[in-house]
Amino acid sequence: MRIGIIGAGQLGQMLGEAAHELGHECLFLDPSESPPASSVGEVVRAEFDDAAALQDIAKQTDVITYEFENVPVDALRDLAASIGVFPPLDALEQAQDRLKEKHLFQSLDIPLPAFRPVDGVDDLERAASDIGLPLVVKTRRFGYDGKGQFVLRSIDDCAHAVDELGDGGLIAEAWVPFDFEVSVIGVRSQSGEIAVWPLTENRHDNGILAVSRAPLIDSVLEAQARDFVSRMLDRMDYVGVLALELFVAGGKLLANEFAPRVHNSGHWTIEGAETSQFANHILAVVGESPRSTSAVGHAGMLNLIGEIPPAARQIDMPDAALHDYGKSPRPGRKLGHITVVADSAGRRDEMLEAIM
Ligand code: AMP
Repeated sequence: MRIGIIGAGQLGQMLGEAAHELGHECLFLDPSESPPASSVGEVVRAEFDDAAALQDIAKQTDVITYEFENVPVDALRDLAASIGVFPPLDALEQAQDRLKEKHLFQSLDIPLPAFRPVDGVDDLERAASDIGLPLVVKTRRFGYDGKGQFVLRSIDDCAHAVDELGDGGLIAEAWVPFDFEVSVIGVRSQSGEIAVWPLTENRHDNGILAVSRAPLIDSVLEAQARDFVSRMLDRMDYVGVLALELFVAGGKLLANEFAPRVHNSGHWTIEGAETSQFANHILAVVGESPRSTSAVGHAGMLNLIGEIPPAARQIDMPDAALHDYGKSPRPGRKLGHITVVADSAGRRDEMLEAIM
């Protein structure tokens, strides 16, 4: 099949590689000059809301998917009348707005931190007195990698927080003194089959994912996380890969956010699972069943942010794989990642230590 992919960053690149291995071809839409996915397919260079370019892609492809969640939903809705667009746009719409996202968690009985919608300084002061401090104040829309966030520690800073984040719709949520963070990634096919990868433990630095380790061996958390992601997939009549990020605090899971797409914390699945998140996403959008999501060892994934150190290119380990997205270096930019796979968690951690 020919698959249209909105966005041609590294997620698009890895989707394109998986599609190619499965015998499919991809056509991308992206406004940037030589984006990572240009190494795996043709890129139509246009803005994401360029109706003519979107129609052009739809005409040339059999199905459409997307690799990042700030795609304008309305632009894709116009396409969905004439071509399959997966994951469903209602899921995209909920993921784009932190308030809708939290209402979804609530409606599915998925535990989450206390929160309040905030539309100005008065609301924020009320939220602080209802929930207590510290509070994490976030923009409802267009936040990513910790951007658009303010940790409110003093009631005197409410005006400052609103000033910094703007008043285009905010939410305030309880600051969670978490023990660690996890993500659970699931995939659902067009006929409703669900497969879930083992639980992944994640460490973020400055709001950006730094390291993932999988599988996290904890049968209680794993069962709960699988149940949560499965409820979400079924409720939204979802097709494709979905990633749910959660905090673990005092042995309990609290949902933070979800991404209606393949996710950075699932990169380890390329080498570390029987089927990667990219391959299973492609299988779902072309109408096939998911394949095994079992781990093939103990995997660790290290993001390369801002620069790819020369040492990373010279790692002499047979079980380490460097993925270079081919992007020009810039502080805070994800340029690549390294995945290691070992036969024990201890050995995996030693390998990660040696690289970090
Ligand atoms: P987000 O963009 O919501 O995923 O936030 C990025 C990172 O900021 C998370 O992965 C956490 O490390 C941290 N963070 C976000 N919300 C909270 C919270 N309510 N309590 C504590 N840390 C948080």
